[in-house]
Amino acid sequence: MMKSTSYVDFPCPRCGSAQRISKKWKEKVPTFSGSIMVDCSQIVCTNTLCQKAFTKNLAEETQKRNAAKIKKDESDKERKTNSLLHAAEARKQKNNLVI
Ligand SMILES: [Zn+2]
Repeated sequence: MMKSTSYVDFPCPRCGSAQRISKKWKEKVPTFSGSIMVDCSQIVCTNTLCQKAFTKNLAEETQKRNAAKIKKDESDKERKTNSLLHAAEARKQKNNLVI
């Protein structure tokens, strides 16, 4: 077994302060032959201000991503409806429409 290098060994990429593990857990990851348990850890910056800003950014990013996903789902739905309409139209004008 190789000794794995932990991210905690490196300073914070944002402010250069030391980092610490705030949370440790095991996660089940599916593989071809079933599943394996992997060690997961959440690393936070020991600089409270830096970590606060990061958490805020993360929350904003998550929010943005969720909003984008909802938007995408909606446009997917719209596209689907449109293509169904187009298909119906195409069937109607089958003789003079080349797709
Ligand atoms: Zn930091």
